[in-house]
Amino acid sequence: MSQSLPSLQKLIRHLQKVPYLASKNVYRVASYFLTAEADAVAVLCQAILEAKQNIIPCKECFNWTESGDHCAICMAPGRDKAMLCVVETWHDLMAIEKTAGFAGCYHVLGGALNPLEGVGPDKLTLEALVTRLKQGHIRELILGTNPTPEGEATASYLATKVHPLGIAISKFASGIPTGASLEFMDKITISKALLGRVPF
Ligand SMILES: [Zn+2]
Repeated sequence: MSQSLPSLQKLIRHLQKVPYLASKNVYRVASYFLTAEADAVAVLCQAILEAKQNIIPCKECFNWTESGDHCAICMAPGRDKAMLCVVETWHDLMAIEKTAGFAGCYHVLGGALNPLEGVGPDKLTLEALVTRLKQGHIRELILGTNPTPEGEATASYLATKVHPLGIAISKFASGIPTGASLEFMDKITISKALLGRVPF
């Protein structure tokens, strides 16, 4: 940037650290903040800080919670706590919840195994899941990782850990395109994949 705008350069530098904010959009976002009402920017900053302070991972399933140690799904009396769907992220969980067709509970891994990116088993909540399964309350584990190479590798890794425990393992029926992510799938596709799940 040739102009001397150190504050703007600083803002852009920080925006560039935000994953998923495409680099071509960083300048537009920075411009938005500069032209927006000061109050609106303050409200946004406050909302980010509040979310950061108030929201924590559920102690049981690692879904986000803002009301105590356990999330609303783990606490809901109507949910089948013996059926667990393992997903990579909170947004995958939300994609399944939007179908309103799953009455079990979840386990959020926090991503998928990706050795090239330095994501090994210790970077995910895999051990916590195995500990949860060893407590003996789970009847079926549904592998809801995404049909990407990383998601498939994570599912296979999990299966080797879970098979000795004697818990039924299933995976989504085919129908979700290879390489796709649950968060971008429509409700009907996800519902069908869940209903038609097959043993893994
Ligand atoms: Zn939970």
